Amino acid sequence: MADSVFTRIINRELPSEIIYEDEHCIAIRDIAPKAPVHLLIIPRKPIAKLSDASGEDLALLGHLMLAASAVARQAGVEDAFRVIVNNGAGAGQTVFHLHLHLLAGKQFSESQLGF
Ligand code: AMP
Repeated sequence: MADSVFTRIINRELPSEIIYEDEHCIAIRDIAPKAPVHLLIIPRKPIAKLSDASGEDLALLGHLMLAASAVARQAGVEDAFRVIVNNGAGAGQTVFHLHLHLLAGKQFSESQLGF
């Protein structure tokens, strides 16, 4: 399988403003933001989609949630943000390298789960 666009960003083969990174993940701004704050938290491990994760990824998945919280704090939106994972093309996934969308800076209605 060819490297995903996110692996190429992680490897610095493609330009991107990396706003957070640690040993397990990076965070970048989404290139086509759907909210005033739209960030992506991306594991360095190239898991194609959430349903491909297994028990060995337990700590990594928890780490991504904590990283999302840290990134929200860094962006000053820790009081109101939404985290979304699209799993599979039918759910709108377009980049097959697991990532969390972090959206903030607008009012989300209770019933509106998408973006
Ligand atoms: P998904 O549709 O859940 O797979 O989300 C993929 C997201 O990656 C989309 O919101 C795209 O706008 C975003 N995206 C694709 N390429 C890049 C890139 N080079 N830099 C930042 N965001 C990107």
